[in-house]
Amino acid sequence: MGKKLHLTAGQKHILKSSFEFSLLSEEEVVSIASGLEVIADLSDGHLVEFLQIANLLYRSGDPLIDDALYDFSFLEELKRRHPDHSFLHSVEPEAALESKTVELPVRMLSTEKAYDFETMARWAKRIAKVSMELGIQFSSLLFRATPKLDGYAAYDDGQKLYTRGDGRRGTDITRAFDRGLKVASGGERGLGAGEVVVCKSYFENHLAAHFDNSRNFQASLIKEKELEPPAAKAIELGQAMFYPFSLLPSWEGRWQEVEQQFETIVNSLWEQVDFDIDGIVFEITNSDIKNEMGATRHHHRWQIAYKRNTETAEVRVLKVLAQTSRSGRVNPVAEIEPTRLSGALIRRATAHHYGMVQEKGIGPGALIRLSRSGEVIPKIEQVLEGVVAELPESCPSCGASLTWESDYLQCGNVLDCPAQITNSIEHFFKVLGNIDGFGPSSIKKIYDGGVERVSSIYALREEDFVAWGFGPKQAENMVAQLQRSLSEPIEDWRFLAAFGVHRMGMGNCEKLLSVYPLEQLFGLDEEQIIEVKGFSEKIAQEILSGLCIIREEFDKLYSLGFNLIITAVEAGNEPGGLMVLAGKLVVFTGTMRQGNRNEMKKQAKTLGAKVGSSITGKTDILVCGEKVGAAKLKKAEELGIEVMNESDYIRMITV
Ligand SMILES: [Zn+2]
Repeated sequence: MGKKLHLTAGQKHILKSSFEFSLLSEEEVVSIASGLEVIADLSDGHLVEFLQIANLLYRSGDPLIDDALYDFSFLEELKRRHPDHSFLHSVEPEAALESKTVELPVRMLSTEKAYDFETMARWAKRIAKVSMELGIQFSSLLFRATPKLDGYAAYDDGQKLYTRGDGRRGTDITRAFDRGLKVASGGERGLGAGEVVVCKSYFENHLAAHFDNSRNFQASLIKEKELEPPAAKAIELGQAMFYPFSLLPSWEGRWQEVEQQFETIVNSLWEQVDFDIDGIVFEITNSDIKNEMGATRHHHRWQIAYKRNTETAEVRVLKVLAQTSRSGRVNPVAEIEPTRLSGALIRRATAHHYGMVQEKGIGPGALIRLSRSGEVIPKIEQVLEGVVAELPESCPSCGASLTWESDYLQCGNVLDCPAQITNSIEHFFKVLGNIDGFGPSSIKKIYDGGVERVSSIYALREEDFVAWGFGPKQAENMVAQLQRSLSEPIEDWRFLAAFGVHRMGMGNCEKLLSVYPLEQLFGLDEEQIIEVKGFSEKIAQEILSGLCIIREEFDKLYSLGFNLIITAVEAGNEPGGLMVLAGKLVVFTGTMRQGNRNEMKKQAKTLGAKVGSSITGKTDILVCGEKVGAAKLKKAEELGIEVMNESDYIRMITV
């Protein structure tokens, strides 16, 4: 508390020379990076600017947040809000060097990433599909796997060495070779793409005292300013080098072997080289398939990088805080000595439940091993030295006494516990996902003003907000946001999931509503719920008792008239939309307000429409988002195509 947040001197320097802050302050950047802000509460502009900054610092060798955190939390959030956002389709640029950029001899793309085998399997499926179309037997295809070096990406055309830049234009860094940098394994010049890297053991023994991390060192090798003596020595000794991808150790085999020995292949490649590695790249070797699959603007479709997302650290616990969740469970959160884990500064770790805290002795002074696998708050993996743990006697939020439910401590004060109420409200807006401004601090103010239900929040007026300390402009915005969340189209299963009933997450709600329409939900009995695939008797019972609790609040909110996109009921119960679109050729164009054109296309297909990519004489309906050119509209008119905007279209298919 009260500690001033700031960037490191190195980070400041990088940003100063190559970034212009437009929305965020330095303090805000650090606060977001430290997990003090709820990502869902960030505005689009703030989110994108933060991504730009995090990406730039990462590329410059002085990362602000962990790679997995960047991918899973921030990038995912942007993907969820705006799947077509230009940031997602541009190659992450290397840090701008001070020199001018030049055109690269070839395009250099990023690599698509997979964090689990399921994603790898989906990728292989796409290859199988293409091979079938080309009449090539999938089982005969060869896959190549190589370590993904975590260095500084560059391209050597034999004359010059270039940075990757934005993938099209990079910077001439031939000076690295002029300074004596060699090609790995005695290789020749001109072998194309690769990475400037340093041997891991050498870095740890000789350079770690001079540089924060190896990326930082790699970046220093190619900077214009004169080399520092330890860097010059590393080059001279051949411990820092340019490693062309074509010279990397590799594994080759068929998909069946990849499937059967995945871990073994990954582990052996990972251990084969003495460099920092941040993944294993798998690619298909058949050139016909490569050509057919091609590339997006961002990556080659015939290649994917498998990344492990766990790193561990040993650290002491400072204290254990109790936090009451929206379900009344009291969760232990350990405050730890600030620790860097794969680049990000970690201050907190979750201890699963108080059963574990008690059994393993997690308390001030305990030594724990942490792992981090994509979550914002890492998990305590193992307790190396336990202490005598202290357990809370009462709810930290409302003071009610706690009861054990298996391994969990539970606050039973469902109706009046402030933490349960505010967390449930927060959950509602977070799942709804179409409203800004209702983060924890706003909700706290609203709760302190005496409001305990989401339905009551929708009845608030500007003067209510002002009375609770919101500025007039902000109050106006809060009311406008509430109105917007009513009018923006939203899937009915998302709306239902927002109520936070146990066992009714978004996935289950979608399953449920693809069998029974929302209006029938509260009339369902246990038998009917069990009929839904994947729902057991126990789940059905929990859902029924949960529905009973939310019913009154649900009715109040439902009657406000949210603009719900109705889930198509599978077979049998056909909604009106089916008939409207059946057999029609539909084209979608422009930026959709609900933001997801691909989802709209998919939905149209499930409603029996054919979806085209551009308008022709055969097109029946043109659905226009924002920013559609006048020429296109004129052409549609000439061709006699029915033109409608996004909301008319949605209204039509959800009638
Ligand atoms: Zn409580």
